[in-house]
Amino acid sequence: MSSPVQSDARRSHWGEPPWKIDFRPSRHPIPERVDVAIVGGGFGGLAAAAWLRRIAPHKSVAVFEAQSIGSGSSGRTGGMVLAETAAGDLPGLGDVLAGFSSTLRELDIECDLQLPGAFEIGRSGHLPNSPIAWQDSGDLRATAEVPGGTINPGRLVSGLARAADRFGAFIIENAPVNEIRHADSLRLRVREREVRASRALIATNALSLELNGLAKRTEPKLTLVVATTPLKPADLEVLGLASGRPFYTVDLPYLWGRVFHTNRVIFGGGIIEVNNWRDLESIDISNGRAAELIAKIERRVRGLHPALRSIGFSHRWGGPVLFGHNWEGKPVFEAHPSLPNAITLGAYSGHGVALSVYLGRWAAEAALGRKALPSW
Ligand SMILES: Cc1cc2nc3c(=O)[nH]c(=O)nc-3n(C[C@H](O)[C@H](O)[C@H](O)COP(=O)(O)OP(=O)(O)OC[C@H]3O[C@@H](n4cnc5c(N)ncnc54)[C@H](O)[C@@H]3O)c2cc1C
Repeated sequence: MSSPVQSDARRSHWGEPPWKIDFRPSRHPIPERVDVAIVGGGFGGLAAAAWLRRIAPHKSVAVFEAQSIGSGSSGRTGGMVLAETAAGDLPGLGDVLAGFSSTLRELDIECDLQLPGAFEIGRSGHLPNSPIAWQDSGDLRATAEVPGGTINPGRLVSGLARAADRFGAFIIENAPVNEIRHADSLRLRVREREVRASRALIATNALSLELNGLAKRTEPKLTLVVATTPLKPADLEVLGLASGRPFYTVDLPYLWGRVFHTNRVIFGGGIIEVNNWRDLESIDISNGRAAELIAKIERRVRGLHPALRSIGFSHRWGGPVLFGHNWEGKPVFEAHPSLPNAITLGAYSGHGVALSVYLGRWAAEAALGRKALPSW
């Protein structure tokens, strides 16, 4: 399996979100051998590393991250916390929100988690008492309230990495895994070195799709986001956002968002299609189609409500998401199709904040043979 990735350490051409990842892992040499190798330093890989060392402190664990922790989806996400999966509940899934919350507690992670619920919004089927009353291709109002809430993504990436480091996992940045093969053990090619591992968890999500075995089954995309300048509390009130509930449309055109602290509102909506995951790496959000789509989101936001008519925008960014074919929404969490003792985890279809942490913990238990993989 080979999948070279590029090496701009922060993927700055995808723009900057309004939070910081304030943890930098200590430097470690690339080990010759580990019990468990984790590929990808996003929510999924970091949660698995922290949990593995917490429950099996005698096992050596290394996270290999191609660039810097959180430089894929996790540091760029909207940070809306949602229940279940994009395909709803699945057999044996369990309670994602409860498992996510308890994992954060048990790993001692503070990431501004709030679970006031979330609004589904739409152009028909409105709730009679909808606090949201916007215009966007029709009357946009709340249609349902569902379980959910928000986190600060910078704090969640930092908190998971800090926990993994504290429990003794090695997190090695600028360490792209370019190939994994099997010859008596797993052998990972990392920066021209070979690492032997008894087990591997591949949590590269929308990138390195040959490595995680998902190239033929999934569609990588770049999704675009903007953050407004801070609003007055009275404006959040008239917008129906004062309760802190995030929102997402259940019909098209798609729009989602949330309030971030200091009263900025984050809005997302545009998606860039690519033929190959490598094309994601070369998208510069300040040019071409991405810049056009961002300008379109900003126009839409200003048209939603008079309180937003002359709002400014302080941050613009994009990040990768991985969908299954036909927008089915089932995440992938299974034995790797061609590598023994390796698990593939990802393809959350834009619904992976709570789920990647929840399944990352489960993957740690599966790698130790303490819990079975699901059969979705
Ligand atoms: C803009 C945006 C908004 C979103 N909003 C929401 C939301 O509000 N709610 C929600 O639930 N979900 C949302 N999502 C989805 C959610 O953020 C992701 O599902 C989740 O972060 C996935 O985490 P991950 O660890 O699987 O992947 P990632 O965070 O992408 O981590 C994968 C890591 O693997 C690394 N990597 C890739 N290839 C290699 C290699 N060969 N060797 C070593 N490392 C490699 C990458 O650099 C990356 O850091 C959003 C996503 C985006 C992009």
